[in-house]
Amino acid sequence: MASIISIRNLEKRYDSGFRALKGIDLDIPDGDIFALLGPNGAGKTTLINVVCGIVNASAGTVEAAGHNIISDYRAARSLIGLVPQELTTDAFETVWATVSFSRGLFGKPKNPAHIEKVLKDLSLWDKRNNMLMTLSGGMKRRVMIAKALSHEPKILFLDEPTAGVDVELRRSMWEVVRSLREHGVTIILTTHYLEEAEQMADRIGVVNAGEIVLVEQKHELMAKLGEKRLTLQLE
Ligand code: ATP
Repeated sequence: MASIISIRNLEKRYDSGFRALKGIDLDIPDGDIFALLGPNGAGKTTLINVVCGIVNASAGTVEAAGHNIISDYRAARSLIGLVPQELTTDAFETVWATVSFSRGLFGKPKNPAHIEKVLKDLSLWDKRNNMLMTLSGGMKRRVMIAKALSHEPKILFLDEPTAGVDVELRRSMWEVVRSLREHGVTIILTTHYLEEAEQMADRIGVVNAGEIVLVEQKHELMAKLGEKRLTLQLE
């Protein structure tokens, strides 16, 4: 399958001198749900931020849907949706206003039918007139996903979509992520947990100390790990 993201020899050295990404090469097939699995500080967020063009790379190239993320930033950015780890929502805004305003930021024409579909798919339709401050943490995270889908991106990044949620909400988020396939977007998510990567992803890339140490189809990785998966602790 063709790659929608191609990363070559990607390096990130922060101003402190710390080398957070050490020559990453990675291809992500179009239509995949891809999990970046790794412990705290492995470089997952840095990788996502560089690929989304939020943080500058120190060296290397990133192409997203055929656009170079540095030289062709505007085109590439309009094809990308990002749900960061921290919730960035306005407490007094309604669900509908938040999502449709986000679409406007990308200069897209109004399309209430698309916003309606996104809200219905994320089980937010009944809450469309609610202010965000009245929603639970899990629902707020769904609003963040709806916001990121508002401009019809081809690629959606979810940075630790289950951070800070309880076990029940975590499972419902797994379902939400799987259902996003229906939007025809390629999904790249980060997680600390092997079980979570297994539940949500088609393919898993293991990140450690700024390097991709392994990329496998989920089933192949699980077969390789065999019984060890029960004891593997990546945290
Ligand atoms: P977590 O799972 O805890 O979110 P992560 O895998 O996403 O971790 P990053 O947040 O990308 O890891 O951090 C990778 C490394 O880069 C860490 O050692 C972190 O301290 C360092 N780092 C991140 N941002 C900066 C920065 N702005 N300046 C210097 N070092 C940074």
